[in-house]
Amino acid sequence: MNTHQTATGRLQGKIALITGAGSGIGKAAALKFASEGADLVLLDVKEEAMEEVCRKVQQYKVDCLSIETDVSSEIQLASAYRQIRDHYGRLDIVYANAGINGVLAPIELMDFDDWNTTLQVNLSGTFLTVKHAVPLLKDKGGSILITSSINGNRVFSNIGFSAYSSTKAGQVAFAKMAALELAQYHIRVNVICPGAIDTNIGENTERTPELDSVTIPVEYPEGSQPLEDGPGSASQVAKLALFLASEDSSHISGTTVYIDGAESLLRG
Ligand code: NAD
Repeated sequence: MNTHQTATGRLQGKIALITGAGSGIGKAAALKFASEGADLVLLDVKEEAMEEVCRKVQQYKVDCLSIETDVSSEIQLASAYRQIRDHYGRLDIVYANAGINGVLAPIELMDFDDWNTTLQVNLSGTFLTVKHAVPLLKDKGGSILITSSINGNRVFSNIGFSAYSSTKAGQVAFAKMAALELAQYHIRVNVICPGAIDTNIGENTERTPELDSVTIPVEYPEGSQPLEDGPGSASQVAKLALFLASEDSSHISGTTVYIDGAESLLRG
């Protein structure tokens, strides 16, 4: 079967950068964007996983450049963007998605280093990804997407997630500031706030045993995702990302979209 969608792809002729593209939501977005004709730049700390994603998107006959990059390092990001400039000369879509849950601990016991690591990857990583993208986006305009979360925006009951939730709230504020500032270049900025999504984020989660002493027990009605009674999938998030990346959302900027099967309305 020929899956190449040259004539009809909604992202035909576009160049899309995705961070955290080796797994979960970023990987699903890479596959979705490629299936709609976008050439890709993938950034992640996991080189082999990204190369595997690049191999998978070959079925769509798109170009795929993967660059091993820690988004919390400005030196590494600046170097990646230099390679992107040399390879493509511009970007149309930038998806700042890389993130970690990090260390989950009671506030009084949380190490400052652990707090800082979560802030640097999730919040500073988002800032740096956007900062270095602007020069490559501003000539023709484009779409920036940011993966935030229901945590820190609608949900505050996950005890232990204080650093994570602070980064996720910060991403939304940053996105709104950026949407206004970058509108003059026709760059749109929107935020995706997922609820529980079935990915590998558990690998980047370290729950300290001391959390048990501060956790507040909450009993929910049976099923914590009312719409589908289970976590969402990364491909469901990727479909939303496609909409926000494409011209179908050309008048949408500075907006936060929740994708959580109504979970956050139950658990706020
Ligand atoms: P995931 O762990 O499956 O994928 C995240 C990817 O980011 C991994 O490939 C990882 O290697 C990469 N990454 C981690 N730190 C990095 C760094 N410093 N530099 C570059 N890459 C890095 O998890 P996911 O669920 O797909 O997470 C994607 C985003 O979705 C995150 O921002 C996360 O906070 C957000 N999110 C996830 C959920 C969920 O339930 N899975 C819910 C809400 C928000």
